[in-house]
Amino acid sequence: PELFLPERINSKGFDLTHQPTLDAIDAARAPFASHEWQAAPLLAGEASPETPGDVINPADPADSPGTVAHASAADIETALANAKPWEATPEERARVLNKVADLYEENFGEIFAILHREAGKSQLDAVAELREAVDFLRYYAANAPETPPVGVFTCISPWNFPLAIFTGQISAALAAGNAVLSKPAEQTPILAHFAVTLMHEAGVPRAALQLLPGGGEVGAALTSDARVDGVAFTGSTATAMKIRAAMAEHLAPGAPLIAETGGLNAMIVDSTALPEQAVQAIIESAFQSAGQRCSALRCLYVQEDIAEDFLTMLRGAMDAVVIGKPWDLSTDCGPVIDETARRGIAEHIQAARADGRLMHELKTPNAGTYVAPTLIRVNGINDLEREVFGPVLHYATFDGEDLDAVIDAINATGYGLTFGLMTRIDDRVQHVTERVHAGNIYVNRNQIGAIVGSQPFGGEGLSGTGPKAGGPHYLPRFTARPAPDAAG
Ligand code: GLU
Repeated sequence: PELFLPERINSKGFDLTHQPTLDAIDAARAPFASHEWQAAPLLAGEASPETPGDVINPADPADSPGTVAHASAADIETALANAKPWEATPEERARVLNKVADLYEENFGEIFAILHREAGKSQLDAVAELREAVDFLRYYAANAPETPPVGVFTCISPWNFPLAIFTGQISAALAAGNAVLSKPAEQTPILAHFAVTLMHEAGVPRAALQLLPGGGEVGAALTSDARVDGVAFTGSTATAMKIRAAMAEHLAPGAPLIAETGGLNAMIVDSTALPEQAVQAIIESAFQSAGQRCSALRCLYVQEDIAEDFLTMLRGAMDAVVIGKPWDLSTDCGPVIDETARRGIAEHIQAARADGRLMHELKTPNAGTYVAPTLIRVNGINDLEREVFGPVLHYATFDGEDLDAVIDAINATGYGLTFGLMTRIDDRVQHVTERVHAGNIYVNRNQIGAIVGSQPFGGEGLSGTGPKAGGPHYLPRFTARPAPDAAG
């Protein structure tokens, strides 16, 4: 049979088992080990930001990666008044976005250092994050549309993928020729500032891309002004609902909202699953990135017949997870993003402890906002009242006869982001994957780390509006006239 070979080649990343590569990474990061960056608004006009405040290193209270000056009300007005869509041919926009990808790759040492010190990202996560950002740039560049842009797009991005999702939203909006007003997550302004500096250096006009660091008030201003024509948002479901309400009141009725929100993601392991493979996939899905992915596994269902042995293996594998400093290669699980996050997760764990539902827990380091991987018993996914955004896995068992009831319970959460299935029965793969409502379904592997261009990422229901990022339907949503074959 003829092979299908995609035209675009994804970023190769770095081989973290190759000593010379590790040495090169160390050498490139070293100059930034105690560097202090200064993040501030980047506008197409004069900025008068607020007084700078310190950015924190979640792994180390003694370290500060630098300062951030938030956009003032005057800065927001300057940005809105000067925003101008990018008047360039699709080829020219593609050339510039590919140049941004090159600059990202050249500056990997500084990017990794910021990811470690500002976002608490491990080496493995830093590599994945840079790769995905580069993939988004090259993928949207390769598909830059001819059709006119929507106009001015507000892009609001999360701290858990401070480079990849930040870049994904912006590069899609820019590839289509929109003017972007970017509001990065409050916790990760330094990486946003560095990335936008590289975008301007590559040739993105300042009027087509302005950066407005700040908190919820900046986001609120940029989603409730009639001069904004569309919004791309990744973050919580609750915030997406507020944004939709603000847009309904202030923006034109047809203004697009592209929202990627939360999830209550489940995995089912049946009695035919290969236990070693399932355990490995669970550890990665629940605890990599300290569980701070919206794709992360939150509720595991194990078939009763194998549960006892399986639990022994799972506990053993949890014990092998290394909790450590983001900068160290040995670290599997770094800190959670800040003290507010840590406290919220710790309260959830404490409630489970008080109820006698704590099944396994690792030791938490003293300094930094760490939460150690934790396993909590539940009767089923409906016991989870909210998405706990950290390294906490909930564990339930099921009787083989009740598989459909489990699927119904998963669907009844109203979320639909990722789902995992571990089985060696082909008919069951068909049966379960047809019934589960989830944007991204993974069989016999982990359920995180969607690949741009191969596994478009996004959910349904409470998990987002679609279209999926990194897929063929995403870019048309950033144009005024979506091509008929690519709508939705
Ligand atoms: N795309 C990421 C993944 O597949 C998750 C994105 C997110 O957490 O928002 O793991």
